[in-house]
Amino acid sequence: MSKTAVGSDVEAYCTKCKMVLAHSVVAMTGAKPRRVRCNTCNGEHNYRAEKPVAKTAAKKTAKTPKKATTKRTRQSWEEVMQEASAKPHKKYNMSGSYGEGDWIEHGTFGLGCVQTFIAPNKITVRFADSTRMLVCNRG
Ligand SMILES: [Zn+2]
Repeated sequence: MSKTAVGSDVEAYCTKCKMVLAHSVVAMTGAKPRRVRCNTCNGEHNYRAEKPVAKTAAKKTAKTPKKATTKRTRQSWEEVMQEASAKPHKKYNMSGSYGEGDWIEHGTFGLGCVQTFIAPNKITVRFADSTRMLVCNRG
């Protein structure tokens, strides 16, 4: 760690430029800068390491859609995939026979879960990005 002193350059949040920029330390409090001068706009202001946290903080909830917490029994597809990839699964080929719930590994589409078996020789398989119909029991 390099020592910060009056006159040294620090990254600080500029209240005028409204971004984190290089500043020169003007005054220190102990080992921490107290006042800094912005190298960009030359404005002098109290030292702030980062942009102040906006009042509308909890933005994290926006990403996860509000699902009813009661229906937590259903795993997300990612979780299912992760679990399945750790388990043994069959390599897909057209002559194989597969049943509902089987995990197969397809050369192109990757890991998928057999959703339905359509007699006599088709299966629908859910892959990470799509559900596809594949041929089985061939030959
Ligand atoms: Zn500035």
